[in-house]
Formats: sequence, C-alpha cells, structure tokens
Amino acid sequence: MRQSLVAGNWKMNGTRASIRALLDGVLAGIGDVKHAEVAVCPPYVYVPEVAERLAGTPVAVGAQDVSDQDQGAYTGEVSGAMLKEVGCTYVIVGHSERRNLYGEDDAFTARKFAAAQRHGLVPILCVGELLEEREQGITQQVVARQLDAVLELCGVEALARAVIAYEPVWAIGTGKTATPEQAQEVHAFIRDRVRSRDAGIADGLRILYGGSVKAANAADLFGQPDIDGGLIGGASLDAEEFLAICRAPGAS
Ligand code: PEP
Repeated sequence: MRQSLVAGNWKMNGTRASIRALLDGVLAGIGDVKHAEVAVCPPYVYVPEVAERLAGTPVAVGAQDVSDQDQGAYTGEVSGAMLKEVGCTYVIVGHSERRNLYGEDDAFTARKFAAAQRHGLVPILCVGELLEEREQGITQQVVARQLDAVLELCGVEALARAVIAYEPVWAIGTGKTATPEQAQEVHAFIRDRVRSRDAGIADGLRILYGGSVKAANAADLFGQPDIDGGLIGGASLDAEEFLAICRAPGAS
C-alpha cells in the first residue's frame, strides 16, 4: 500500500517571522496526522532554518527547484548537493511556474530530475496541461510527453525513488479544482504508462494531485484510487487549513 504524501509548496511567500509562526502552527497539530507523510517546501533562503526547526519531527523539508548542474560557474543556481547538505529530502522539479514563466522545457526538467537523484534527493516531478491543451483534448499527450522526457533520460527505475504530481495548470492558484473524476482519469493514465514499463514501480509510485486543493475538497480528491496525496500551494500557507488537508480521509 502506498503511503500518501501531502507537500506544501510555499512558493515565493513568507518572511522569517511568518514562517516561524507557520511552522509553530503545523507542529502544534502534526500529532493528529496519523498516516500521511507531510513535507514543506520553503523558498531556498529559508530552507536551512526550516530544516533545523523540523529536525526530529515528522515533517520533511523539500526545495522548490534545483540546478541541473552539480557545481561551478552557474550564477544564481543551487545544487542538489547543497540542498541535501542543508536537510532537504524532496525537491519539486518542473513546476508549471518554472515551465511556463521561465521557459523550462521537458529536457531541462528531466536533467534537473536526474541531478536531484544524483544527490540523493527525491524529486517531485510536476506534470500537467494548460487550459487550451485540455480544451483541445490533448491532456494525455502533454502529460505523456512530460513524463517520457524523464523516462528516456533516467529510465523507469528512477521512478522508484521519485514522486509525481499531476497539476493541471488551469487549476493552480485559480480556485478551480479538477473534479475528482477528471484528476483520477489522468492519474490512472500516468500509472498505466509507467506500468507498461514496470508494473512493480507503477504500483509503488506516489502520484499527488495539485491545483487549488483545500480542506473542503481534499477528501474527495484523495479518496480516488490513484491519488496518493497532494501538492498544496496557497492552502499550505495557513497552518490550520494545511493540517486539515493532511488529516483528510484518504490522506490520513
Ligand atoms: C502549486 O503551486 O503547486 C499549487 C497546487 O498551488 P495551489 O494549491 O495554490 O493551486
């Protein structure tokens, strides 16, 4: 059975003070989260402080991005080794904001995925279609292309040490959530595509849903057979709301 994962993506939000308060709130209620694994992904500069605060607690730390390079003259980049050294377990790779606002393509995302794994980080690979792609009926083609870029570079075995997040771009930060059935359809498609290469890896692969998840809709989404938790943006900035998502039936 797959253990669900609920990961908070704080994006470029927070101050030292607000992050301390958020962590206090999450830690105050984490004891009531019975089954889901929980992680938070702060902005880079706050990762060391958050990791120190969370050491010895059940809450893991992830970063929001990683360099495709390992070290050297790459101004502004942060390597997987650095993230590992300061306490990260996870790293988000290929978030739609990286893909669509910063032009990061499938091949570049796949190289970031590989770099994360070279340094012992667990990549959370984000895939998902734009609204116009859904309207054109090419959701599965888009998701397959994004997934295949990683499979071709890293092989299916790499997915034994990774998490996938299906995040329809039209549902991110918009308040529009995919229906549980719409999400389940794409999650099953992803799992089947992995299964066609390796059934064991497909069965163990955690596939998270992301896109306007809130306490009010989490249980319906997480109750779907191929949804193994969530990647949570806006709602992860509120400790009570985030904890309620972590406790939602299906995640907990
Ligand atoms: C995200 O950015 O990964 C996300 C799912 O955001 P939100 O929950 O705010 O839609």
